Amino acid sequence: MAEEAIDTTECDTYGHAWYETTNQGRLRPEYGIPLVLRCERCSRMRLDVIHPLTGQLISRRYVAPFGYVRYKKGERPTKSEFRLLLLKTHESRHKAAAG
Ligand SMILES: [Zn+2]
Repeated sequence: MAEEAIDTTECDTYGHAWYETTNQGRLRPEYGIPLVLRCERCSRMRLDVIHPLTGQLISRRYVAPFGYVRYKKGERPTKSEFRLLLLKTHESRHKAAAG
């Protein structure tokens, strides 16, 4: 199951559902305050370092979970295409629920 692709259609359509989580040593900035967020749907992480005096973003990087779909440049569907994909997902869920 680990090799199965993570379905990120909802995140690609709505944006990620970030919540703050503990740093656990993921970020050890020389200067600044670590702010670690994780998406509750797809588990993608956003690692920010914040300037403690100005609040400015010093650095940001993302960590994608294993199986996360990466689109090549120019191949990423548009927001509208993601919405259509999402509607298809809803349809197949309704069919499965109806048996
Ligand atoms: Zn997400």
